[in-house]
Amino acid sequence: RAKQTGKARCVVYNPRHDSLSEHDISLEAAMFQAVRDGEFMLHYQPIVDARTRAIEGFETLMRWKHPTLGMVSPAKFIPIAETNGLINLLGAWALKAACVQLKQFQEAAKRPLYMSVNISPRQFRNDKFLDVLDDAISYSGVSGEHLVLEITEGTLMIDPTHAETILGKMAERRARIAIDDFGTGYSSLAYLKRFPISVLKIDRAFIRDLPASQKDGAICNAVLDLARHLSLSVVAEGVETEEQMAYMNDRGCRYVQGYLTGKPMAANVAIAALTESHYA
Ligand code: C2E
Ligand code: CA
Ligand code: CA
Ligand code: CA
Repeated sequence: RAKQTGKARCVVYNPRHDSLSEHDISLEAAMFQAVRDGEFMLHYQPIVDARTRAIEGFETLMRWKHPTLGMVSPAKFIPIAETNGLINLLGAWALKAACVQLKQFQEAAKRPLYMSVNISPRQFRNDKFLDVLDDAISYSGVSGEHLVLEITEGTLMIDPTHAETILGKMAERRARIAIDDFGTGYSSLAYLKRFPISVLKIDRAFIRDLPASQKDGAICNAVLDLARHLSLSVVAEGVETEEQMAYMNDRGCRYVQGYLTGKPMAANVAIAALTESHYA
């Protein structure tokens, strides 16, 4: 009888984790351990000039090297961290570490590169976010103008009034705002007028089937046109082939990011890429 009670309790307990599978729950437990053990690290993917292929900046992408599971994808662990709040800790660490790394990249390359950092919805809405940003800037000694913060349309739409305030404060620090995965959200274009946005990142979904897909071509052209009229920069994400590169470059897309011009890489590999003679 005692055993049955135990089981019943277990059943009552489970629905709390409605949205997480059992696998996710064990992953969640492992994440707290991983923070303590320093298993999270950062990789950097080059963002290049589509015409010259010179590296203009990097996007910071988080990695988790689990001792037995191996590399766990951020597509898997970021949503869990977003649910349990660990993203605030991880995100603050990533922003600061990325700024310190940027300083080192700039010194190695002897030119003003920029760093693009993903900011999750929960991190963006956290009371401490601006303090975290200020701390990262002052600790690293980078200039705010060399920082790009990537947020999604969804992040802006949760509470547009609050978003407007935060974006204004970011602009005071001269950090730029990029809309990540542009075109995949459900929001209207009105926010492009309302918020001080500098960069649109065209989602890989619109690049993948280029140049064959006429529809994707039409969408990319429309985004480039819109960006031109609003004086925004465009980064094409997920460029994997020379044909995609040529397509976007021919249509005036200034920046590309993708496996063709560089996968996410460890900092020392990035420094080697930066100091190769043809980038100088
Ligand atoms: P994202 O911000 O859209 O990042 C771009 C993703 O596309 C990265 O996946 C990158 O490795 C991948 N990618 C880049 N070029 C190519 C390409 O040519 N082909 C293909 N197939 N993929 C390409 P990754 O690193 O697995 O990250 C997945 C997502 O996890 C990111 O999507 C972002 O939403 C999230 N994420 C990663 N790091 C962080 C972080 O530090 N903070 C937050 N909040 N989210 C992060
Ligand atoms: Ca991103
Ligand atoms: Ca993206
Ligand atoms: Ca994406």
